[in-house]
Parts: sequence; C-alpha cells; structure tokens
Amino acid sequence: MEIKLKNLTKVFPGNPKKNIPDSTAVSDLNLDIESGKLIGLLGPSGCGKSTTLYMIAGLKAPTDGEIWFGDDDVTHLTPEKREIGLVFQNYALYPHMTVYDNVKFPLTNLNVVTNKKAKKVEDNTLVINLLENDLDDITHIIRTSSFKDKYSKDMTARKLVFKYHIVTSIAEKIFKILYKYVDDETTLHEARDLAVRDLTAENEAIIAGLEKKGFSVDEKFYIHNAEGNTIPVKRKLNKDEIDALVQETSRLVQIDEYLLRKPSELSGGQQQRVAIARALVKKPRVLLLDEPLSNLDARLRLQTREEIRRIQKETGITTIFVTHDQEEAMSICDDIVVMKLGVQMQRGNPQDVYNDPANLFVAKFLGTPPINVFSATLKKGALYIGNEKIFADPAFANYEDGYKVFAAIRPEGFLCGEDVPAKDRVLTLNVNQIVTMGRDLSLVCTNPNLVGAEAKVIIDSLIKVNIGEAKVGIKPQKIFVFDGQTEERIRTK
Ligand code: ATP
Repeated sequence: MEIKLKNLTKVFPGNPKKNIPDSTAVSDLNLDIESGKLIGLLGPSGCGKSTTLYMIAGLKAPTDGEIWFGDDDVTHLTPEKREIGLVFQNYALYPHMTVYDNVKFPLTNLNVVTNKKAKKVEDNTLVINLLENDLDDITHIIRTSSFKDKYSKDMTARKLVFKYHIVTSIAEKIFKILYKYVDDETTLHEARDLAVRDLTAENEAIIAGLEKKGFSVDEKFYIHNAEGNTIPVKRKLNKDEIDALVQETSRLVQIDEYLLRKPSELSGGQQQRVAIARALVKKPRVLLLDEPLSNLDARLRLQTREEIRRIQKETGITTIFVTHDQEEAMSICDDIVVMKLGVQMQRGNPQDVYNDPANLFVAKFLGTPPINVFSATLKKGALYIGNEKIFADPAFANYEDGYKVFAAIRPEGFLCGEDVPAKDRVLTLNVNQIVTMGRDLSLVCTNPNLVGAEAKVIIDSLIKVNIGEAKVGIKPQKIFVFDGQTEERIRTK
C-alpha cells in the first residue's frame, strides 16, 4: 500500500491567557512512501516524529494537509477504518491473557467482507433507500449543523450514524451527496435524484457482472451462488479461521513456542514480538512502529530490529518506523526521513544521506562517533581551517574572502601514518589519546578551530601514530562544507 502525505501540518494550540504560544509539531510535510517499503522517521526528541505517526494512524487530527493510502483519502477516517497495525514502545499486552489470546484479540470482533462487489451493492442500496425515504429528516440534521470545519462535518455524519444505525462510510457518502445543495429544495431534490440514478446504474452494472459469473441476485439485492445459497456480505471469522491466522502470524514472528504462556513469562524481546503479531494478525494495510525497541536492552534491540526487518520483508507490508536512534534507522530502513522541529530536512537511502548530507544538521545527526565540525573560512577559492589551506574548489570562488563556513569531516575521513605524502598533510591535529578498539584505533584530538571539545579520528589499528602533534590528510569524499549562515551544503566537486 502506497502512502502519501500532502502538506501535512499539526499545530497544537497554545493558551494566550497563560502566555503559552501555539506549538507547531509538524510543518508542511510532503512524503511519498512506495508500497512495501520500510521508512524510518528520524530526528531528535520533539522533532515531530511521533505526531506524524499518530496522524497517519488516525490518533491525532491534522491541522492541515492530507493522508492517502493508495487511492483512499484517509485523512478523516477513524483509526479502526484505516486498517493499520500499530506497535508502541510499551507493548501493552493484556497480562491476564495467554500469548495466544493476546494475538487473537483483534480478530474477535472482526467482520470480513466475503464479496466486495456484493458489499458495494448492499451499501449502495442502503444509501438509495435512505435518500428516497428519509430525505426530509436527513436534510434537517444537515441543516441544523454548523460547517465551520471538518470536525463539525464529521459530527454531522456521526449523527446520521446513530439515527439510522448505519456505518460511518455510508453516512459520509450521504452527507457528501447532499450537503452542498441543502439550502435549496429544488437542487436538493435534483442532487438526490442524480445520486439515486448513478448508484442504481452502478448496482445494475455490478449485478450484470455477477450474473455473468453464474450468481443470481434477488429483488432485495441478496446474492445467491449456483447452489442457490445466499452469500453473506459480511460475517465474523469462524474458530478455525481465527486459529489459522493466530498460528500463521505467530510462526511469522517466531512466538509459536510460547502461545500458552502469559506475557510475564516472556523476555522483553519476545513480548515485543507478541505485540507485533497482534498488530499484524488482522493483515493491516500499513504497519506503524513507534520506537518499538526502546524498552529492550542493547543485545535484544539488535536482534529484534533484524526480526522486524525480516518480518517486514516477508510480509511486504508498507512500514513506518519512528526512532531517535540513527544507527537503528540506518541499519534496517530502505529510506530515512530526517526531521528537525517538524520540518523534513532530508530523505533518502540511509547510506546516501550519510555520504551526501544536505545540511549541517543532517551531517551532525548521522554517524557514530559524530562528524567533526570545524569553523573555517573561504579565501581565494580555497577552504581554510585556521591558517591551513585544506583544498581549493571552483564553488568557493563565489564567496568573498573571509566568508565563514563549517568544514565537517567524518571520523573515518582522515589519512594518518607514514605512507601519507607530505603534500597531502593539510591539517594539524593534536593527538591527546589513542584508544585501541580491536580492528581500529580511535584518536581523541584537539584543534583550536573545532566546534565542540574534541575530534574523533578512526583509523586502522596497524597504522603507527604517536601522542602529540600530527599533520593529517583528509579523504575528499569525507569532508563536507556548509554555509556559515544557512548551514546548507556548499557542494564541491
Ligand atoms: P520524542 O522522540 O521525544 O517522542 P517526537 O519527535 O516524537 O519526540 P513529538 O512527540 O511529535 O516529537 O512532539 C513534537 C512537538 O510537539 C514537541 O515540541 C512537543 O512538545 C509538541 N507536542 C506534542 N504533543 C503536544 C500536545 N498535546 N500539546 C502541545 N504540544 C505538543
């Protein structure tokens, strides 16, 4: 299922009396998520990741913008109607139920549509009957409602639901047909007649199609198969079907061994897998994960994130994963969306974003240890850190001498040791500490132009380095230059 966010915005209203300003949690977010992809929403605390996820889930209403699942505008649908699976960081299983019953729970009241075409005919018929028999009452309800905003429109649809015992989608359909014409009796009746005509024509076309396939349709629009049995349009799942779904999903997330245990008899990772099974058992169109690993210890996090990737690949379900842990997002997501203060900073394949950050925020947010940032200047078409000329580039020629920039170098972007030719040694660092980390050495260094206390340099442990001053080289693809004012990337060759 493809997901589209169009100009999505969420403003939490403040309180002027108490001097609390409005808070914009998400601002004009546009995002296209291809069907079957795993996307990570990533950013520091308060950047609007969870608010975005809750708007997609239907738990928070957008102030502006639209949310589409495939061809369906779901912006104003309730969570139940969006067919989503949601997993939170505190997995909130029912403690008194077995794992089996926890996974089964979402299926208990689930209605399945046995024949989509028959369902359409049934829905259309209901709308036709209401429009023909109750037009006066319905228009009265719509007339006496206010239409200030989407909320009051939804409330009006809800009144129809309660009055006529119909489902929300049918109420919305009726409301949509009538509300534009409700002030004028003539056009109101015309709109009703047109709608009835269209719906009747649609039903006739569906019925003709069904009859061609050997079904018969009676005068009450009940559909019968070749043996003369009525096909129910909606029904509950039977016991065997429920069992099959629970077993299938439990096997998928590998909790089938524990079905008879209570959640308290499982590890945190296993409990989280039960929560994922519970979200998946209804075969949702979209899976939404809100920091699903943050309650697990380091080892389980690693294992469970691999599990999530496997399950997502096997089911092919479009998944949105919220985390503030960049390593987690980078390791399992097809694409990451880095956010800052409600605004999308950059979106792309994790490795591409790491190798090609659009701005200083993204460069600093991705990577452990973090990127080393130096205050620098541009002079005569070249980049200088202090008095040291780092490199020249045509892009720098557009700036006046002394223009302030930031030069950011990845920890793995330095060239050290005897083999580096003297002409390539462009930057002086003071090596204060050398830490061996198995395959690598981590050098803790200082330089007067560093933004932040110290630089981390990661090099191969076979390279010989000493404490004290070292002149080092820089790998061209590992240094990025950012405008000192806008912090946007100055792209070099
Ligand atoms: P975290 O990683 O800490 O969960 P987040 O990126 O998920 O953060 P959100 O929870 O989406 O961030 O919050 C985004 C912004 O909206 C924050 O500044 C937060 O204070 C604000 N916010 C969230 N909920 C409300 C609310 N109900 N009323 C007012 N402001 C809110």
